[in-house]
Amino acid sequence: ALPSADDRQHILLYEAAEGGAGVLRRLVEDAATVPAIARLALEIVHFDSDSGRDRRHPRGAREDCEAACYDCLLSYFNQRDHRLLDRQLLPDLLRAWTQATVRTSPAPVPRDNHLLRLLNLCQPELERTWIRKLDQAGLRLPTDAQRLVEGCRVRPDFLYQEDGVAIFIDGPPHDTPEQRAKDEQQTDALEDQGFTVIRFGHGEDWELILERYPTLFGKPAVPTNQSTATPSHDELDPDDFAAEWRVIVERLVSVHGVAVEPGNEVIEDGRVLDLDLATVRKGDIVLRLVDDGRLTADSVADALARQGHRVVRVSATETDVVKRILSAFEE
Ligand SMILES: [Zn+2]
Repeated sequence: ALPSADDRQHILLYEAAEGGAGVLRRLVEDAATVPAIARLALEIVHFDSDSGRDRRHPRGAREDCEAACYDCLLSYFNQRDHRLLDRQLLPDLLRAWTQATVRTSPAPVPRDNHLLRLLNLCQPELERTWIRKLDQAGLRLPTDAQRLVEGCRVRPDFLYQEDGVAIFIDGPPHDTPEQRAKDEQQTDALEDQGFTVIRFGHGEDWELILERYPTLFGKPAVPTNQSTATPSHDELDPDDFAAEWRVIVERLVSVHGVAVEPGNEVIEDGRVLDLDLATVRKGDIVLRLVDDGRLTADSVADALARQGHRVVRVSATETDVVKRILSAFEE
């Protein structure tokens, strides 16, 4: 049933950027994302994301925030719900989410139910082994197994319906020339229907197959029990930064104890203003860098400051920019 104002049992997430920026995909594919969001959400509602301590008010503000304020949950757009909003209801849930593992299901039933259905549908042990392997690695499960593709009378072992991908796992009988000819016919028929066919044998290296199609199978889940919110030097991907910033970012992370993560969306009143340049941490201190060269620099810097962040505006052409950023930790 669809949720109503009186019975809100679902959460619908959508991307504010037109056409989407791949945020939702990251949410389900990158195991570190939900814990990171939960930590950020705790900070937004004035709780320390490490200790869970209630800071009681926005950073830099003197007045306490009891249930909600315009620095955390209130906005012009949720006025009708202001009486319902209470930040004190959040810490238990959000702290659980900081340890959460995301498990996605390709069907409108929980992953375990879908998995059971797939296992029941596939007959040879070979196919069941493949499905279990996907599940245990936290990878994307197919939408269907042994389903007849209309129009070409072929029943692939597995289907990824929305991706238009059919999967065949060939057991030992497929090694005969007759069977190979039949396999080729099936592949042709499916390709004529617009499917991509992935076929591999029982004896092949399945790890390699998984690595070859990361957009289809997803990336293997990483353990989420370590603190994923503090990026380390190793995790820094220079591609996350515009060319003029890469050297600067690399010099920053080479400083002992400094961690840099790429820009985040800066949101105000439910609208994405732009990305900031980076988040730089040293000990407990977190700085948000805003690229002065961008047209949105003023609004992004102002919004971040209003949200209680320590903002440093920087320009890539500035000499000693690294030194200035580091000195901002001492202020
Ligand atoms: Zn508040």
